[in-house]
Amino acid sequence: MSYIEFKNIQKSYDGETMILKDLSLSVEEGHLVTLLGPSGCGKSTLLRSLAGFERLDSGTITINGKDVTNLPPGKREIGMVFQQYSLFPNMTVEENIAFGLKMQKQDKTIIKEKVAQMIAIVNLSGKEKKYPKELSGGQKQRVALARAIVNEPKVLLLDEPLSAIDAQLRKSLQKQIQRIQKELNITTIFVTHDQDEAMILSDVVHVMNDGKVEQSGKPTDVYTHP
Ligand code: ADP
Ligand code: ADP
Repeated sequence: MSYIEFKNIQKSYDGETMILKDLSLSVEEGHLVTLLGPSGCGKSTLLRSLAGFERLDSGTITINGKDVTNLPPGKREIGMVFQQYSLFPNMTVEENIAFGLKMQKQDKTIIKEKVAQMIAIVNLSGKEKKYPKELSGGQKQRVALARAIVNEPKVLLLDEPLSAIDAQLRKSLQKQIQRIQKELNITTIFVTHDQDEAMILSDVVHVMNDGKVEQSGKPTDVYTHP
């Protein structure tokens, strides 16, 4: 059994037009897989379904053998980073990262420790007291990443996290994401429409089109495709 399994997923927003069409997909533990495909093919819908933000018309989703299809988002142990920075503008870097832990009423000393650990992991030492508006795009996405993983989720979902970052810096951030993902062994689904990005990052690439997975394989196999 794979770590994450989507089985025969169907999803519509209007009760008629299926956006995800009998889609099945498996992700192995510790892998970073990319979902590659044209705009509108259903990539975000698939991620949001896994995170628990969308109700499926049919099908099941399991994580580590556990059926999560009808679990609320808070019970799925998933961290998420979106394309648009979703940081709280009136909180500093460390307050942004600590937010989820504070909501869970964790002990202050533990919060401090975990936040310091995260700051080190994403290489933001010295930026603890900065506000989002004082940070570059890449730095903001690293804060968003730290916030997503500080709770030690089992699964990390990244929805085009680097598409608003310029090409040169994107390379450096890709490497950092890969390093962190492997270090923490978080099973990760990374949505992109950038083939080079998929090539560099993936253990496995899943090519989506029109609500289905059309092809899956190692990056080198997928790209020798005519
Ligand atoms: P992708 O991430 O591949 O660009 P999406 O999952 O965002 O694709 O969207 C797939 C399709 O579902 C698109 O046609 C989009 O317009 C539609 N869609 C996405 N979200 C909603 C929504 N909340 N309500 C209605 N239609 C939606
Ligand atoms: P941004 O300016 O958008 O935040 P990055 O976060 O990718 O861009 O990096 C900013 C600078 O810091 C770059 O010059 C990059 O090479 C350097 N840098 C980023 N991460 C590391 C790291 N882990 N080790 C050393 N240098 C780094």
